[in-house]
Amino acid sequence: MASAVRVRFAPSPTGEPHVGNIRTALFNWLFARHHGGSFIVRVEDTDQQRKVQGALDSILLTLRWMGLDWDEGPIDSNNGSQGSYGPYFQSQRLAMYLEATNKLVAQGDAYACFCTPERLNGLRKTQTDTQTQIGYDRHCLTAFTSDERQRLVSSGADHVVRFKIPEGQSEVVIHDVIRGDVEWDPSLLDDFVMMKSDGFPTYHLANIVDDHAMEITHVMRAEEWLPSTPRHLLLYKAFGWEPPIYAHMPMILGNDRAKLSKRHGATSTLDYKAGGYLPEALLNFMALLGWSFDGHMEIFSRGDLIKHFTLEHVGKSGAIFD
Ligand code: GLU
Ligand code: ZN
Repeated sequence: MASAVRVRFAPSPTGEPHVGNIRTALFNWLFARHHGGSFIVRVEDTDQQRKVQGALDSILLTLRWMGLDWDEGPIDSNNGSQGSYGPYFQSQRLAMYLEATNKLVAQGDAYACFCTPERLNGLRKTQTDTQTQIGYDRHCLTAFTSDERQRLVSSGADHVVRFKIPEGQSEVVIHDVIRGDVEWDPSLLDDFVMMKSDGFPTYHLANIVDDHAMEITHVMRAEEWLPSTPRHLLLYKAFGWEPPIYAHMPMILGNDRAKLSKRHGATSTLDYKAGGYLPEALLNFMALLGWSFDGHMEIFSRGDLIKHFTLEHVGKSGAIFD
């Protein structure tokens, strides 16, 4: 491998860490330790409305309890960071997202949109009623010149910034270590919001600006993020940056093969701590949610897991949690 492995666990502090979140953290940690690389924790706290008091404490407590130590990231939930790529709280990196946004606007790859929620709701309703593709209609791109948009922004008009999906773009291909090449038709994507009106970035923008700035080599995350990846690849291209290697991990399912949720019983990792389970046992159990060594061996020490963990042995299909 050319450069040292750098992977991240990027939780949003919006609730108690569930089994799926911690499995993501565990696989990233095992991958980093196996390759002698760095495991980074980055707090994705840009959604001010969904932030839950105490959630980050629970996440950090779980990581510490399970022995998933991080090389860079928050020191505690009170905004302190350690590591040379910090800060590791997205809410403290707003200037970088603004700079990135301005760059794409100047290039013509993004534009300010002044549409009101009423207009957007009306648009969606019309699209639903007429069964046409749902998505932004580029009103602000076509109704104003870039100078007019600039003037409106300077005068303090309420606006978001949208990424302009390139026209005539052929298939977007995600090279995924676990899934192989996944093709995506970009005509299904609309000009998504990258910067919100409150000056906070959306997940898409903040995620890739940080993965680039923090020199993340591999993005290992849950399968549910796969539909976001084509947007991320288009952003990377617009910025002229090299995307990381992707590995989307299999879903975790309940016994009935439905996506794991509260109705399947305890799904918060801290419930297992409270129930007296040993961290080594949970570590062993969770490692087998999507990964296997030879299909037979089931008992692994922490050292065994580090030694044997590779992405080649992570499967595509859902892992049953029982
Ligand atoms: N903040 C996202 C989450 O909560 C991170 C997804 C990703 O790893 O890109 O899962
Ligand atoms: Zn608009």
